[in-house]
Amino acid sequence: MRNNIVHIGAGELTYEIRAIVKIAEELNRFGMKTNMENIGDPVAKGEHIPLWIKEIVSGLTMKDCSYGYSATKGLLETRQFLADLTNQRGKAQISAEDIIFFNGLGDAIHKVYGMLKRESRVIGPSPTYSTHSSAEGAHAGQKPITYRLDPDNHWYPNMDDLRQSVKYNPAISGILIINPDNPTGAVYPERILQEIISICKEYDLFLICDEIYHNLCYNGTATRPISDLVGDLPAIAMKGISKDVPWPGARCGWIEVYNVDKDEMFSRYIDSIVNSKMVEVCSTTLPQKAIPLILSNPEFPKYLAERRSRYERHSNIAYNLLKEAPGVKVNRANGAFYMSVVFEADRLNNQQTLPIDNPQVRELVEGLVNQPGTLSDKRFVYYLLASTGICVVPISSFCTDERGFRIT
Ligand code: PLP
Repeated sequence: MRNNIVHIGAGELTYEIRAIVKIAEELNRFGMKTNMENIGDPVAKGEHIPLWIKEIVSGLTMKDCSYGYSATKGLLETRQFLADLTNQRGKAQISAEDIIFFNGLGDAIHKVYGMLKRESRVIGPSPTYSTHSSAEGAHAGQKPITYRLDPDNHWYPNMDDLRQSVKYNPAISGILIINPDNPTGAVYPERILQEIISICKEYDLFLICDEIYHNLCYNGTATRPISDLVGDLPAIAMKGISKDVPWPGARCGWIEVYNVDKDEMFSRYIDSIVNSKMVEVCSTTLPQKAIPLILSNPEFPKYLAERRSRYERHSNIAYNLLKEAPGVKVNRANGAFYMSVVFEADRLNNQQTLPIDNPQVRELVEGLVNQPGTLSDKRFVYYLLASTGICVVPISSFCTDERGFRIT
């Protein structure tokens, strides 16, 4: 084989959220029970899917109406339904043509970065959801460019860091925010969103806002969708049904594009995203058929309210326990279903171990932690898994220099 087929180096795709599962599976083979707190899949975590949602989906499969291809951007009636939802807020006004469906938001993320010119960069948060950093870095063939989220300030963006990066790096053409945030659980107040929008306007950048957790804010917080605030700024909101419906197995997400006609370059860029979708034909249609029926069902707000109060209860139990733990820094999570726990510097001891009863498990873990270059938080995560069966994700895998872990 010629040696030019492997893409190595900065920007390699990584996704520790799933990579760690392989190790948990090995432990299962050795007879250990594992508690998978690594992945943000409500269904895998036992979330009850109400009968009314199942009836909508099974009813659709019995009708001969969602078996064909759709238009490139997705089913027109569903895009119109979603555009109406945005327009009813009385701020950004969009048409069905401003909405494009993808096979999950993960797919959208790859296309959105993939269609940028190679030299053009989107600066994203650190820590960040690794699909964003991996896709952006892989596209550019470089390390992701980041601004810092501050664990000493509710994990809000450090605005000076963001502003300075944008000011001195002409390759940056866009800013990414994730609100509510994965992996920190932060929910941004309006003033933060406004400030980021004003930075975009000042430096002629477009904005991407990943809002997949928008319906999952709690602890008395709520956040504005970016469509309320963008004004005439070219922007993309990313949305999906994996978390709130929750139907991650549907692989269905979409982007809403604001102010596409306000900037010729931005408009050409969006055209290229549509063309990439055309090359692929279209996205899966059954969930698109279900979306208007599910989102407009009077049971949906009640179901969400019940889950929000349950997530709030669970996250506050975790917060109250972890904030008492020595040597770690933790913020209350106000949205999504994650919390990031950071080790204080003096706890970065690469010698610490945890007791492991099973000799096969001990051997496996010792082999892993002794691999050269294993970071301190990865070491901790392996030991935690082998000692207690609790599977979390090292925070270093979310594109940050912090050490710690993310727990769902
Ligand atoms: N964006 C964020 C912030 C996420 O946390 C996730 C999944 O965890 C996604 C996008 C991808 O969602 P999807 O299941 O629609 O691909």
